Amino acid sequence: MTSLSDLPLRGDLVGKRPYGAPQKVVPVALNVNENTHPIPEDVASDILAAVAKAIRGVNRYPDREFVELRESLAGYLGHGLTPANIWAANGSNEVIQQILQAFGGPGRSLLGFAPTYSMYSILASGTGTAWIPAARDEDFELSPETVASAIRRADPDLVVLCSPNNPTGTPLSIEAIVAAYDASRGMVVVDEAYAEFMPSDQPSALTLLPGRERLMVSRTMSKAFAFAGARVGYLAADPAVTDALRLVRLPYHLSALTQAAAVAALAHSGEMLAMVDEIKGQRDRLVRELPALGYIAHRTGSNFVLFGGVDDPHATFEALLEQGVLIRDVGIPGHLRVTAGTEAETTAFLEALAALKSQS
Ligand SMILES: *Cc1c(COP(=O)(O)O)cnc(C)c1O
Repeated sequence: MTSLSDLPLRGDLVGKRPYGAPQKVVPVALNVNENTHPIPEDVASDILAAVAKAIRGVNRYPDREFVELRESLAGYLGHGLTPANIWAANGSNEVIQQILQAFGGPGRSLLGFAPTYSMYSILASGTGTAWIPAARDEDFELSPETVASAIRRADPDLVVLCSPNNPTGTPLSIEAIVAAYDASRGMVVVDEAYAEFMPSDQPSALTLLPGRERLMVSRTMSKAFAFAGARVGYLAADPAVTDALRLVRLPYHLSALTQAAAVAALAHSGEMLAMVDEIKGQRDRLVRELPALGYIAHRTGSNFVLFGGVDDPHATFEALLEQGVLIRDVGIPGHLRVTAGTEAETTAFLEALAALKSQS
């Protein structure tokens, strides 16, 4: 049998492991920050009808410029954005990969503030871009001063700011984003994968786009939109940026089925997002109730909570899994991360955790 080590693999990939959380079938899966609410039935039928129509044309390549989808996304985002400002791909992971293909690469660097989304360093490595992990302040916070001084010191070609940050949940101030932009000479990506879960009084980085041609705001339909399995991520930026991404995208990278499904879903954005407030309620409940069980819940603006004060994260993870509750060990000592689920799922998690406490 051939093994990986028998193949002439690229040197920098030798010894690496593929990224991915365990995909286990469990009653309560709260490990990858999905929206655990299914799509409303009437929206699902509309999406199905659109996909059924699109499948009759799949003998032809799809619209390479996905014009209708860009129109829908511009309409959804508002802020005066037009289709010329919008880009999309198969998940925001692909969007970020295309950004690195266009603006990173060998001899160039990407700076982010760790702990942060682990795909950034993996996508950097895959595109030959150097990854520079800079440090956060106390409690995973990020002040404008910390951001600016790290960028001035490292002088990276790209900066990625995860807002709110995964896996810590930490919201990022608009002042810190401005500080990053002003301190850097290169491209600045703000990853707003969890934007819809932010406090409603906190402005999006979209408000900063006018006059900032090096700024990019990436979003996804995977989380708030309950569309993780459809793979649709997108980006808003100056039209020159989307022109740059056209240089590296594969031709026809968004299938006709993906485009049709996303356009149909966006036509129901109100209904698709109806669960967001309920999920925020369950998240706030986690933040309220975890301390009562003796844990420290970190400040969060997303659909998950990082909690500390866990003596043995691996043991707690395994014990919860035994009770059918899957959460995430994100590798931060003394911490675990849990996604806010439905009310019943969140209850199941809290009860399983309380049961562990009473045993020990
Ligand atoms: C989940 C997540 C994404 C989304 O990835 P998709 O490829 O759009 O599913 C992007 N960034 C962060 C920080 C995430 O947590």
